[in-house]
Amino acid sequence: MGEAVGVSATFSILFLGTGTSTGVPLIWCGCEVCRSADPRDGRWRSAALVSLGDRALLLDAGPDFRAQCLRWGVARVDAAFITHLHADHVFGFDDIRRFNTMQGNAVIPCYAGPETLAGMRRVFPYISRRRDAQGLYRPLIDFVAVGGAFEALGARLTPLPVVHGDVETNGVRIDFGGRSLAYLPDVHEIPEGTLALMGGLDLLVLNLLRPREHPTHLSFARAVAYARAVGARRTRFTHLSHDVTHARLEALLAAEEASFAPAYDGLRVDLVK
Ligand SMILES: [Zn+2]
Ligand SMILES: [Zn+2]
Ligand SMILES: [Zn+2]
Repeated sequence: MGEAVGVSATFSILFLGTGTSTGVPLIWCGCEVCRSADPRDGRWRSAALVSLGDRALLLDAGPDFRAQCLRWGVARVDAAFITHLHADHVFGFDDIRRFNTMQGNAVIPCYAGPETLAGMRRVFPYISRRRDAQGLYRPLIDFVAVGGAFEALGARLTPLPVVHGDVETNGVRIDFGGRSLAYLPDVHEIPEGTLALMGGLDLLVLNLLRPREHPTHLSFARAVAYARAVGARRTRFTHLSHDVTHARLEALLAAEEASFAPAYDGLRVDLVK
């Protein structure tokens, strides 16, 4: 059972980053988006922080994680969910140790699918549940393999298996205080069984890479079609490339559905309002 969180409990998502694996701007790219003066066209690698009452759930920790924490003022991380083992989603994970320290050396649970967790153990073999006897400063993590729905931080989390190339990949549905969101940053195909887990959402956060097709990510047309099929009250698109400016994408999406918009770094969406 979760603790009492009160009638005004926070349930929000803060977009730490909304870019594809390269980040935007790309290194040494002179395109319109990479040179844009609009801060919404700067896209760190995709990750998010979900506030659940006074606690926080981290969704992925890519190479920009430390900079994101500093830029957006991340004050705590009580648990993490890792969608899949691609560099742009896990290579900042070591910096989570700062939150162990700030939270009295509390062990932080990290949830992911079994293959993803096996990969995390390979990439970070020194991560442990216990403090190091020689005083080495390393993350204190309880790796927890998940398949079906489970409870964490007073919320119900449901892994959402999706097709994203040949790597095990999950989105996640989060139900808290009668509201719900789903976060799927890397997707090419959403199986029927997963779509069936996505009913009645207040917010859908969905991959939209670029206008043209891609073998492991959703193009504009495919993302819009899935978002319509899911029918969430609001949809925000993430994991964006440098192909379209925020302003242009915003106009294109608004022409499809009034409830569709691109996310951008630093955007916070409150679900309790
Ligand atoms: Zn990615
Ligand atoms: Zn560019
Ligand atoms: Zn990926």
